[in-house]
Order: sequence, then C-alpha cells, then structure tokens
Amino acid sequence: MNNPPAAPTLPADFNDFLGNTPAVESLRTAIAAGRLPHSLILSGPSGAGKYTLALMLAMAVECERQPRDLWSNGQSLAGFCGRCHNCTRIASAANLEELVAAAVIAREDLRETDKKDTRVLIQPHPDVLILPPDPPQLLIKLGQVRTLIQRAHYLPAEAPRRIFILTSTNMMKEAANSLLKILEEPPDTVHIIILAENPGELLPTIRSRCASVRLGALPLDEIEGLLITRRPEIPPPQRALIARLSQGAAGRALSFDLDAYTAARADALILIKYAAGAPITKPGAPSQTVSSSEVGYDHTALFKMTETYRAGADGQAKTTALLRAFSLLLEDLLLLDAGTPELVRNIDLRPELERLAQTLPFAWIERASHAADQVQSGLRRNLLRSLSLDAFAAQLAGAP
Ligand SMILES: [Zn+2]
Repeated sequence: MNNPPAAPTLPADFNDFLGNTPAVESLRTAIAAGRLPHSLILSGPSGAGKYTLALMLAMAVECERQPRDLWSNGQSLAGFCGRCHNCTRIASAANLEELVAAAVIAREDLRETDKKDTRVLIQPHPDVLILPPDPPQLLIKLGQVRTLIQRAHYLPAEAPRRIFILTSTNMMKEAANSLLKILEEPPDTVHIIILAENPGELLPTIRSRCASVRLGALPLDEIEGLLITRRPEIPPPQRALIARLSQGAAGRALSFDLDAYTAARADALILIKYAAGAPITKPGAPSQTVSSSEVGYDHTALFKMTETYRAGADGQAKTTALLRAFSLLLEDLLLLDAGTPELVRNIDLRPELERLAQTLPFAWIERASHAADQVQSGLRRNLLRSLSLDAFAAQLAGAP
C-alpha cells in the first residue's frame, strides 16, 4: 500500500536537519571554536535524528574544507562540504542497519573460533569508528569498547580527530565499566559520542563525565507538514495516524512502515483482548467475566499468534515491534482513563480502545507495562522468544 521508505541518506547540510535548531547550532558553534566536548551524550527519542546528527558532526570535525556559516553577530558555525574524501567516507555510514547486517553476515562466514571473538564494528573512515549493539543480544560488548580504547590512544591517521560513536546505551556491565575509564581522561584528539534514547540507562558515573545535548520531539503539525512534502503518496488519514505514532521524531515519521506497524499492533491487540476477556474486573464492578464475543477472549487466536514468534534475529525484531505497539496501546488506554482522548495516538482504533479502557483497570495497565519491560530485557539476554511471549500472555491474563 505504501511505498517502502528510501534508504537513509544524510542531509546535504545542517540547515536540512529537521528540528532542534538551537541544539544543532550550539554544537556547530562548539566545533567552529574547537570546543566540541570530548565526551558527549546525544539523547532523544528513536527517529529524532541522533545518528544522522552524529555523522554530520563527525563530518564537520573532519571535513578537509572546514566551511563556516557566519552570523551577523560574528558567530561562526561549523559546516561540512559533503564532497571531500573525509566527508564522503563518513557519509557512507548513513545506512547503519544495512552495514550492521553485512557485518553480521561476514561474521557468520568466519571459523567458529574466530566468530566468538569478532564484534560488529563499522569503520567508514580510518579515524571514525561506530559501535552498534552487537547482535543477537544487541548489547555493546567489552570487545567493542576495548577496540575503542586501543584506537583512542593512537593519533588520528588522516583526519584532525578520532571519533567514536556508540549507537546505544545497552551495554554489558564490563563494557560500561571499561568505557568509564577512557571517559575519565579522554585523549585530546578523541571525541566519543554516545547516542541515548534514555540516558538514565547509562551509569551515573558515565553521565557525569559527558556533556549532554537533547534532541526534543517535533510538534504534530510540523511532522504532518513534513509528511505532506516528503511522502505525498500517503493518504491523509494514514498521514494523521503516522504523525501521531511517530511521537515527534522526524526520521521515524518519514520511514514509518504503517503496514508493519499495523501487523504488530494486531498481535498486541490479541494479547490485550485476551487479558481483557480473562476474569479481570474494575474494582467495584460486579465480578463477572466479560463475554468472549464482546472483547474477543480467544485462546486459539493467542496460540496461533505467539507461535509465529520464533527465536533468532527475525523473531527478536518482530517481538520488539510487537512490544512497541503494545506499549503505545497501553499509553492510549491510560490517556482514555485520564480523560484526555484527544491525545490518543492510535486514532483509527479509538472506539475499540474506549471499550477496552472500560474493562481493564489501571492496575492491570501498570502491571502489563512492567511485564512488557521484562520481556524486552529478556530479549536482550537472548531468551527463547516464543516461550517468553506465552508466559507474557499468561501473566497479562492474571494466571499464576
Ligand atoms: Zn568535506
């Protein structure tokens, strides 16, 4: 129905970076003045442009031509040419997902003994190293941080600085402790940028050693405007839905795969309806089970659904999408409970969500949200996906 979004490319210059102008300008000013912090946490929701901005900052630091935008007040903002040998190599890392997938396939081809010790690292330029969470556990591992530390102690090979980008805060404990050591005294020629959806997941000792810049959510009308110009093929009702579901993140809105989301959400709804159909009642309400035809208490549908979630990288991505849709639905139920239906994101499901909100007590939503977090952290520890999803469903329905 929707065309698949195009592969990511970097904006041509900082003026094309969407939103968060003050934050971007402060970073550009710092680079122009040679004051970019050696350790920086770039935080913001998924799709806010953290990775894109990190690459653009790297280009601005390393660009051979060092272009500047001059303001009338004399302030100088760093830019990048996008064409020199440093810029083009860094920009080649724009499609991180594809590069990580290729690195994982290359690792699969190694001998067993080498495979175990090989960590996924992306190096678009001799002086720029990107550390993504290592599959399948999707944690940044000690081996990756060790490589960072080892290379940080060499002078840059070709560009003015060495830049390291950690694309996640999900780290093995040993990796985090090891990172802390280099953050205590980063070499002068090194910049370490940590991308964080939730900086609170980082050790407080790591946070206290880093400067922090936050990319905030864009307003709903800005996101809708962006979709009108960049993805005009999307019909208005779906556009309105995508704008709400992308939660103010421009990148997420532009690359939103509504079909995939709708599929994940349908599965999440099965879980919620299953729980709603089980003997749970609002406090004070007559204690009786809601009839199955009304809310869809359906063991078979549940079983068929959880069975499609398998172990492995695909299953992990699928479960993550399910959990994400699940938590958006829970948030909507809370918004309805709180009497703010105008803030509901899944606007196409509002009547159905209103019915469910009447059945499911607040305490259940809290418990469900906590249970979903546990499944997510179970995923990180690489448990059997299908098994934990069944346990999750049982937990939601209040089984012992
Ligand atoms: Zn350049």
